[in-house]
Amino acid sequence: MKTVQISDHIWKCTTWIGFSISAWVVKSDEGLTLVDSGIPLMANGLKKCFKELQAPLKSIVLTHGHSDHVGGVKRIRDQYPVPVYVHETEIPYMEGKLPFPGRKKAEKLTEQGLVQPFDTNVLSAAGLTAYHTPGHSPGHTVFFHEQDGVLLAGDLFTSKRGRLNRPMPMFTSDMKQAVESGAIVKQLNPKRVSICHSGDVSITNAEEQYEEYVLQFV
Ligand SMILES: [Zn+2]
Ligand SMILES: [Zn+2]
Repeated sequence: MKTVQISDHIWKCTTWIGFSISAWVVKSDEGLTLVDSGIPLMANGLKKCFKELQAPLKSIVLTHGHSDHVGGVKRIRDQYPVPVYVHETEIPYMEGKLPFPGRKKAEKLTEQGLVQPFDTNVLSAAGLTAYHTPGHSPGHTVFFHEQDGVLLAGDLFTSKRGRLNRPMPMFTSDMKQAVESGAIVKQLNPKRVSICHSGDVSITNAEEQYEEYVLQFV
């Protein structure tokens, strides 16, 4: 796993299994927050990252409930039994009560009751604000680290040649809604959009870059 410090408070940890999968570690005065947890084989690399940053892990927050974002939770919690948070809309899908929209079968990815709805106090202690950006999945959420100007965008986008690109169609339940949710970039005007399955995108003109993104689909 490759770990890169992308801003004062944020490290991006990426592994490659034919495509890349990332998770983020956010440091604050309170300790560490893990944003997404990748797949199970990333757990050891993430634990190594916590040790190197020499601060206690406080919580895990998830952009959404797909297996490549939730998969590391169990192994990490075996050693660090911290609370896990996600947008409340996402919980019944993760607990296997409902199939994600567009999928045939429900899949139980987390134990019932383990994952809780977001707690704004927990997020603000980490320096993060959550914004609901549905489309890729019903409860998809991005986290903005205002001080660093970094938007942790999960699967809201992919990127191509340094430009915003749409999320992977095969795994996106409502593409139209996902593209509309991408307008959060204009609203927040981050310096950097950090993306789970691709390289990050530098934002120099949010309005223009979002319009260019939308035009790809017309
Ligand atoms: Zn996803
Ligand atoms: Zn994903």
